[in-house]
Amino acid sequence: MLEINRLSVKYGAYTAISNVTIEVGQGDFVVLLGSNGAGKSTTFKAISGLQKPSEGEIVFEGTPIQGLSPDRIVQSGIVQCAEGRKLFPQMTVYENLTMGAYVHRKKKKVIKQSIEEVYDLFPILHEKKEDAAGSLSGGQQQMLAIGRALMAKPKLMLLDEPSIGLAPLIVEQMFDVIQKINKDGTTILLAEQNANAALKIADRGYVFENGSIVVEGTSEELFTNEAVRKAYIGA
Ligand code: ATP
Repeated sequence: MLEINRLSVKYGAYTAISNVTIEVGQGDFVVLLGSNGAGKSTTFKAISGLQKPSEGEIVFEGTPIQGLSPDRIVQSGIVQCAEGRKLFPQMTVYENLTMGAYVHRKKKKVIKQSIEEVYDLFPILHEKKEDAAGSLSGGQQQMLAIGRALMAKPKLMLLDEPSIGLAPLIVEQMFDVIQKINKDGTTILLAEQNANAALKIADRGYVFENGSIVVEGTSEELFTNEAVRKAYIGA
């Protein structure tokens, strides 16, 4: 579904990622692991069209997408759920969700049905639909960010550190829902520092270090890999 071949991205003269190759199949759940600054977000920015690659290609469903504008990439079916959430804090939960359906804005019925699906996944968003997004707790805002991304009906959803700053119990609930979204048919590419939680639900993963991929494998292989355990799991 998504093939990233020998991708490099520079910020000015600084090479943030180099020679990155990643494959995500239809229906897969793939995780990118790595510490702060290792290059996960830069990879996402390149996929979403926010950062132009200096080398390499990104192919989605057989079509090269590098160089396309971010809105064309959303239309092709790739939607990123941003780190830091980037909601509209003054607007209600409901209004934030409808903003997520911008690409489907002419299809009122589709939007209504998508909202019901999001409410089914996150009942708390239904309860708080008239509340301002800014009044929600951190976990609820993250749920709203995921819900808003789902409103665009993505084929591939990019999730950048959804667990950041959340209590362990909330992280667990969040990851359960992400797993359900994947089981319901959305392909997932997740960037995480929380390797322990992520490897429990992902099929495969890639480990970034200093802008390059140093290890890749199934979740089980990564979980039992000595170096990965030492660096990202502990014990
Ligand atoms: P994080 O979890 O902090 O987002 P990350 O693995 O996603 O980490 P990136 O944000 O992709 O890492 O950063 C990769 C490298 O590129 C880092 O060295 C970072 O300092 C650098 N970098 C990121 N954004 C910029 C920018 N806009 N200008 C210059 N350098 C940048």
